[in-house]
Amino acid sequence: MTQQLSHQHASFPRRAVVTGASGFIGSHLAHALVQAGTVVIGVDRRDPATDRTAATNLAPLRTLPGYIHVAADLIGCAIEPLLIDADAVFHLAAIPGVHPSWGPQFSDYVASNILATQRLLDAAVRMRIPRLIVASSSSVYGATDGGHSVETDHPQPASPYAVTKLAEEQLCLAHAAQPHCPTSVVALRYFTVYGPRQRTDMFTHRALLSALTGQPLRLYGDGHHRRDFTYIDDAVAATIAAATAPDAHGTINVGGGSNTSLLEVISIANSLVGRDIEVHQENPRHGDVLTTRAHPGRAQEVLGWQPQVDLHSGMHAHMQTLAAEPTRYNRAA
Ligand code: NAD
Repeated sequence: MTQQLSHQHASFPRRAVVTGASGFIGSHLAHALVQAGTVVIGVDRRDPATDRTAATNLAPLRTLPGYIHVAADLIGCAIEPLLIDADAVFHLAAIPGVHPSWGPQFSDYVASNILATQRLLDAAVRMRIPRLIVASSSSVYGATDGGHSVETDHPQPASPYAVTKLAEEQLCLAHAAQPHCPTSVVALRYFTVYGPRQRTDMFTHRALLSALTGQPLRLYGDGHHRRDFTYIDDAVAATIAAATAPDAHGTINVGGGSNTSLLEVISIANSLVGRDIEVHQENPRHGDVLTTRAHPGRAQEVLGWQPQVDLHSGMHAHMQTLAAEPTRYNRAA
């Protein structure tokens, strides 16, 4: 966390790079930045011309001037030209998801989450980018006693995915801690982000889809796992604040403040749709910790940010999007 104070005077970016822009959080972030007047270079290996999810996620941006999409893989593409004149880089590109990371796909996690990050960092420092915001994860904390996780807690990642996210954030912070590094780094530890266009493997999406379609819902474990669910608009606001807060650096929790069980999520979905979901219980999966709960203090103090959207309201907004466009989201729950 030792950074050069002279490089910490960030302002609202005129031009920014968003990696992972075809994804769930990246597309919302790019949209919010463009609406605020920032020119956004969105970089993602998923090309909206050929990838249905990317096209869906980027559809709201298509009609707005100020968004430029570059379909490129950060593992091998030339990165420096993408960063020309950028005031901030938001690095969200990664392979997410705990479960596939146990299998043969792990090398993809290492390539995208660690090696590509190292390439991006090298380029950002050479191009003297004033600030880089990197998407980290609550998963770096691992199992807890149910209390709040504080940024200074000893990380104990419980899955290969979480190990790559810890490596990713620490790699970024190690670069920033070098003497005379021109780039200050903020690593945001997102806690279970949900909302419209959420990844289809995630629980709130699957629960709402089951409620809407009547398809059974697979529940891994007994439903007592608890998560600090964070609404997408809140996550985006925290991310933009991380680019503009003058002295922001180091790791910061981004949690919605809810610490709700999966059974309670099912109950909210039932009440929103007026139908009881048929639940198929399966064994818990490796790497799913019992509970996550963000200590909110540092986000409040450093970013001046706190969540605005409670879980019921956020799930209502999410459900309305799904109900309006069922064919886009109609995947098995
Ligand atoms: P997502 O899968 O929707 O988006 C990630 C995007 O990164 C994808 O569009 C993918 O194509 C792109 N990408 C992956 N590797 C790439 C590469 N080598 N080159 C170019 N593009 C590449 O995931 P998301 O849910 O929007 O998550 C965004 C970030 O936030 C990730 O870093 C994730 O680890 C982190 N995060 C998300 C959550 C959550 O609840 N969604 C929680 C904690 C952390």
